Amino acid sequence: MLTDTQARTTNHEARVMPTRLERYERAYRALAAELAELGFISQGSVVVRYTTCGKAGCRCQGDPPRRHGPYYQWSRAVAGKTVSRRLSEGEAKLYRGWIANRRRLEEIVAEMEQISAAAGELLLRPVSSPKAPRAAKR
Ligand SMILES: [Zn+2]
Repeated sequence: MLTDTQARTTNHEARVMPTRLERYERAYRALAAELAELGFISQGSVVVRYTTCGKAGCRCQGDPPRRHGPYYQWSRAVAGKTVSRRLSEGEAKLYRGWIANRRRLEEIVAEMEQISAAAGELLLRPVSSPKAPRAAKR
């Protein structure tokens, strides 16, 4: 048999817990659905470079200088070293999209972790509080 206090607590949880948990589940499913639609991902960054050459009288050394470029370069860390690769303008656009996808992926995973932690707080047994009455155990 439940005491009055226990019965009230149980009813309260039955009423409140599923709605909060359902809200977390809905938010989590929405993130998972967005994840499922996410395109290819890439680390690193795309940089645009303008360069000068060594040819005497070239426009890149004129006044004002008109440097060569734009040149697109994809750079990322591989085993602690920066590795770069030249890209065409079209490839640079593609990789900027993939890099943005990777950032979104990380945001989604972080949000999923937060929601999961909040759901865990609802589902785990409460940590026993030092303020809980102990009189009954004496
Ligand atoms: Zn030049």
